[in-house]
Amino acid sequence: MYNKSNYQYLLKDLSTLKGVGAKTSQILKKKKINSIFDLLWKLPKSFTDRTLSSKVKDLKIGENQTITILPKKYLFPRVRNLPNRVVCSDDTGELDCVFFNSYEGYIKKILPLGKEVTINGKIGTFKNKYQITNPKYISEDSSLIKQKHNKYALSDGISEKVYNRIINQIIETLPILDEWHSRDILAKFDYISWNASIRELHKPENIGKYKKNFYQRLAYDEIFSTFLVNSEIRKKIKKNKKKNKILHLNKQNKIINKLDFSLTKDQLKSLGEINQDLCSSTKMFRLLQGDVGSGKTIVSLLAAYNTVNSGFQVAVMTPTEILARQHFNLAKKIFANELNIALISGKTEYKEKKDILSKLLQNKIDIIFGTHAIFQKKVIFKNLGLIIIDEQHKFGVSQRKRLSDKGGKDCDILLMTATPIPRTLTMTIFGDMDISIIKEKPKSRKSIKTYSKLENKIDDVIKFVQKEISLGNQIFWVCPLIEESKRIDHTSAIKKFEYLKKLFPKQVLLLHGKTTIDEKENILNSFLKNEFKILVSTTIIEVGIDFPNASVIIIENANKFGLSQLHQLRGRVGRGSKASSCILMFKSNLSENAKKRINILKESNDGFIISEADMVIRGFGDLLGFKQSGIKNFKLADPIHNKDLFLLAEKEIKRIEKSNEDIKRFKPLIKLYDRADIINDIA
Ligand code: ADP
Ligand code: MG
Repeated sequence: MYNKSNYQYLLKDLSTLKGVGAKTSQILKKKKINSIFDLLWKLPKSFTDRTLSSKVKDLKIGENQTITILPKKYLFPRVRNLPNRVVCSDDTGELDCVFFNSYEGYIKKILPLGKEVTINGKIGTFKNKYQITNPKYISEDSSLIKQKHNKYALSDGISEKVYNRIINQIIETLPILDEWHSRDILAKFDYISWNASIRELHKPENIGKYKKNFYQRLAYDEIFSTFLVNSEIRKKIKKNKKKNKILHLNKQNKIINKLDFSLTKDQLKSLGEINQDLCSSTKMFRLLQGDVGSGKTIVSLLAAYNTVNSGFQVAVMTPTEILARQHFNLAKKIFANELNIALISGKTEYKEKKDILSKLLQNKIDIIFGTHAIFQKKVIFKNLGLIIIDEQHKFGVSQRKRLSDKGGKDCDILLMTATPIPRTLTMTIFGDMDISIIKEKPKSRKSIKTYSKLENKIDDVIKFVQKEISLGNQIFWVCPLIEESKRIDHTSAIKKFEYLKKLFPKQVLLLHGKTTIDEKENILNSFLKNEFKILVSTTIIEVGIDFPNASVIIIENANKFGLSQLHQLRGRVGRGSKASSCILMFKSNLSENAKKRINILKESNDGFIISEADMVIRGFGDLLGFKQSGIKNFKLADPIHNKDLFLLAEKEIKRIEKSNEDIKRFKPLIKLYDRADIINDIA
């Protein structure tokens, strides 16, 4: 039932509206418009102004005009191909309404003789007389015609008239909701209500008025609801009381002293934050964010070490086996014989696997490394105290929430990602977690020189490659997918492989989307062992793997990639102590804008700066990691233009968290804007 103050009306199916039949609602559903609420965000693109009316003598040919006239005479010729006409006039002249393919009955009904009507249409002429052909907007009530009519981006099969009727109906029945924001927040938007804001949003004259209070308020609603849901998840996780870990810092420091490098300030700071979580009695749910090569692994392994020394087990999960093996080998090296560590991979023999499983159950393995396989049901830990997850920027909020429930109540969670994103997005995407950031890179790291080259200068590139090989270095050669959508589209990589194989016999490897997982492991391993010099691939190699001997990366058709992605690809080299280079190849001369983008990359090696600049140039939708973040894209809010609103929302959330306010009043907001199952049980 329609209730003036009930938000649930907005979540109703579109077919509950008058005039929306099965066909129309089917068309809209295909566009992911399921509820009345969804339709509110399809904004008018432009409008037709029918407010100004004219007299016959002042009509302008070729323009859309509104006029009030009197129908005087029907001319129905009853001859094929000749249209029906209605002669009309005002006190300044005559105008004909012309109808092709319309029934006489219909014409008589909409244009009764002797009754003044207001009509809108495009003015034409025929035999020196004004006419309007097939007029669409006719009414005896001139106020119905004399309006500004919105134009929406219409879906095939829905006419403007029908669409406007639907939207107007919604606007007319828009519920008046209890205000959810505090007075202080509302004051920033001149106290405009949600209901009034939506009405303003759909007014033709308000198209594109992003700075106006109604628009800002609605954008803020969006941002705030996302942050609020994140905050609730965080609160919920924090409610879990756990057995705190007891740190043995002297042991930890012994390991640190034995490393062949000293930790950076940011590494130490992050480690400190993680340690504090470990020994607190609330569950850790923390993200370790740091650019490629910033040294996250060692920080996480030290946290693992501390956890083990407190009597718990640790699970380290990576997206690929090869990365799991690298972490495993590093752990073996730095913990020598002190800890029992194991690796589960697809290749692990049945007997060994069984052995590992039984040891896990008896707490005889301290740290286990592996892919998602380590979370299968049959893997049971005796006393799991920490889960570390590497390079999982693709995990969305709900996946993370599930993860936090895993491992039992005493288990802390540490996620790591090499996706630096602007600050406004961090709260949006990772607001459910505490965050540690490593900004500073290890001092020993040589910067990567970045060059751009036109494709027809490939001979220079080949010479450069020859020189690098003679110096004992290895080369990545990345060919983009020609069409992003087709995973199997790898022709460019194969072609390049064939070409390079002729120049460098027995030194080139190939990797693409069709390579099986086992083959991929073998190929990467033999490249790691330096058995081959060049690895041609599509972008399927994950960022986390260390190839200390690779010092050159060549990226073809580089304008296919976003800056952040190029930066991440570039991060595959420069991990050892050698000077490295990145060569970006282009098919044709760069546009000014493209040059600007590439220069950012050449000048900076800081992923945070690059992603911020990338966002400003391309918009946030394209930023790496955002699309897969699991959070819906905002409809109005934009992290670039509404930075102040993001910061305002962040401040308000902190205030609410601190004051322990009842959040019941936000229930409609959350239900309307997020509708995520995760928060079903809150509010
Ligand atoms: P990422 O943050 O991308 O996961 P890694 O943890 O793989 O980076 O570290 C990249 C490389 O830097 C590794 O070879 C690692 O041993 C080395 N490394 C880490 N911390 C430091 C440091 N403080 N000084 C010098 N090298 C370091
Ligand atoms: Mg890593």
